[in-house]
Amino acid sequence: MNDVTMQDTPAQSHKDIEKTAHENNKLHKRLCRQVGQAIGDFNMIEDGDKVMVCLSGGKDSYALLDILITLRERAPINFDIVAVNLDQKQPNFPADILPAYLSKLGVPFHIENQDTYSIVKRVIPEGKTTCSLCSRLRRGILYRVATELGATKVALGHHRDDIMETFFLNMFFGGKLKSMPPKLQSDDGKQIVIRPLAYVKEADLTRYAEVKQFPIIPCDLCGSQENLQRKQIKGMLREWEKKFPGRVENIFSSLSTVAPSHLMDRALFGFADLKASGIADPNGDIAFDDDPCSTPSATVSSIIPLQLAD
Ligand code: SF4
Repeated sequence: MNDVTMQDTPAQSHKDIEKTAHENNKLHKRLCRQVGQAIGDFNMIEDGDKVMVCLSGGKDSYALLDILITLRERAPINFDIVAVNLDQKQPNFPADILPAYLSKLGVPFHIENQDTYSIVKRVIPEGKTTCSLCSRLRRGILYRVATELGATKVALGHHRDDIMETFFLNMFFGGKLKSMPPKLQSDDGKQIVIRPLAYVKEADLTRYAEVKQFPIIPCDLCGSQENLQRKQIKGMLREWEKKFPGRVENIFSSLSTVAPSHLMDRALFGFADLKASGIADPNGDIAFDDDPCSTPSATVSSIIPLQLAD
């Protein structure tokens, strides 16, 4: 018995190692494919661009930089990459980790030292959320640095889950149908901001960070409380994904399949001037005839007589 176990164990573990290597390889390919797809779909990077990759030390921005470096080697166009980290002087920030990592990687980089931590602590009363001022300060500094470095694109590490959460946050708390676009003009109008991870799931980035063993810098050094609303939305999406597989995927694709004529924004669609054209629209109201929630008998034989009886 023992002999069998001893012979089987190394064979099994070799198989496991091969399986893990295969899965890791698939993950890397998937990330490259999804990032390449997003870049192509939104024309994020063009020939001659200088892409400033904002590196926070979190898993997402490490993965972004890593994948962009891979894609640059294969791309039919030429573009430069410069990694930028903003050292906000948070207590215990390990300032040596990113320069060491980036030097080893051989990618040009710049560390911007700006003590936004003290400003935020001074301005925001104790116990209040500091993130909005902190983010605003960080954004302004990064845009300035991008201009100084001659960057033509500013790449951020937001992913598919960030986009979905922001969509629901804006809807639930801001009353707006709005999310984080994969490409947009910066607030100051001087930069184009891109989000090449727009199609990538957070779970894949978590796994990729483990595989690549990125030297992650914890994001709670400032001592700020977690954004509870975002946490709740994250939980809601996770629950939906568990109970109704495919729902989150459908919501995500709905963000790129918008029908302004079937919403209520008068600025997006000319409802006031709408006239019957006499031409049938195959994508018009009949879209809801095939209601997946109704049974055929309910739609045809019971609803119509009921309406007639009324
Ligand atoms: S968690 Fe801390 S560092 Fe991050 S945005 Fe909020 S205040 Fe700034």
